[in-house]
Amino acid sequence: MRGVRGEPLSRHTSWHIGGPADYFLSVGTTDDLIEGVLAAREQALPVFILGGGTNLLVADAGIRGVVIHNQVDDTSVDGTRISATAGVTMAHVAAVAGRNGIGGLEFAATVPGTVGGAVHGNAGAFGTETKDVVEEVALFDPATGVSIVEPRELAFRYRYSALKERPEVVVLQAAFRGVPSERGAVVAKIKEMANLRMQKQPLRLPNSGSVFKNPPGDHAGRLVEAAGLKGLRVGGAVVSEKHGNFIVNDAEATAADVRALIEEVQRRVFETVGVRLEPEVEFVGEWS
Ligand SMILES: Cc1cc2nc3c(=O)[nH]c(=O)nc-3n(C[C@H](O)[C@H](O)[C@H](O)COP(=O)(O)OP(=O)(O)OC[C@H]3O[C@@H](n4cnc5c(N)ncnc54)[C@H](O)[C@@H]3O)c2cc1C
Repeated sequence: MRGVRGEPLSRHTSWHIGGPADYFLSVGTTDDLIEGVLAAREQALPVFILGGGTNLLVADAGIRGVVIHNQVDDTSVDGTRISATAGVTMAHVAAVAGRNGIGGLEFAATVPGTVGGAVHGNAGAFGTETKDVVEEVALFDPATGVSIVEPRELAFRYRYSALKERPEVVVLQAAFRGVPSERGAVVAKIKEMANLRMQKQPLRLPNSGSVFKNPPGDHAGRLVEAAGLKGLRVGGAVVSEKHGNFIVNDAEATAADVRALIEEVQRRVFETVGVRLEPEVEFVGEWS
């Protein structure tokens, strides 16, 4: 276990934004992860589990307490079932699926971040969500210890799991179920999905994927574009010209810039098309 004080979280988020963590702990084993959580609780310090940092707007003032960076990275394969610890990237899960001729998990190749983050927010792409392929999840609750739960216990729905209501619970591991396929077919599908992403999304600049959830029956990006907001800027944050649901950091944006831009987009979309967009990205840390 390696702990440092005042680590800038901008080093660990895909937006390259975020102030310091009071205390930052990188863990590489499940035992260290559990030990880190328990040690922080003994000191009455709040704990935040950081995965890939791909869905977070971390405040400029940073995060109080302990940020535990989950780098527990282990996979195993049994037939068409892949078990992965929560620090494994979803891209790696897809790669393991490809190598082993397991289909159905191709979408994971295009979802940045870790297994823990994907379970927490039921990440999905190209018509498949984490809930469709996850078979069981190992959790650590500091109050009750380790348990294995079935997906229905996590109340998954669009970009939501019950874990969002229980930030003290840590995802340790998940098992995914695919279907028999062929390596070539899996790789071809992943390439096709990745190409579509490259065409449609501004992946060359720091971003956090979709900023807003899609409202029922519509696309947030379409509404942002319809309201004429592509290119709208606050400081170093700008609504992408390529995709209306992306905000890119093209000039050392602060978290305050991004948040102000998000709120301005929400206000103008509501005024123009009458829809209240709800953020998909999470605001974390100390906001004034
Ligand atoms: C270019 C780009 C494209 C994207 N495309 C998609 C997409 O197609 N579909 C989609 O759903 N998302 C997409 N996203 C958003 C992001 O990839 C997902 O939300 C992802 O699941 C976040 O995982 P993470 O590991 O980065 O989580 P983080 O951003 O690190 O954390 C997100 C939340 O999960 C919690 N968390 C993380 N690990 C654990 C754990 N082990 N136990 C408990 N809680 C945990 C954190 O505490 C936090 O609350 C995209 C992002 C980017 C940058």
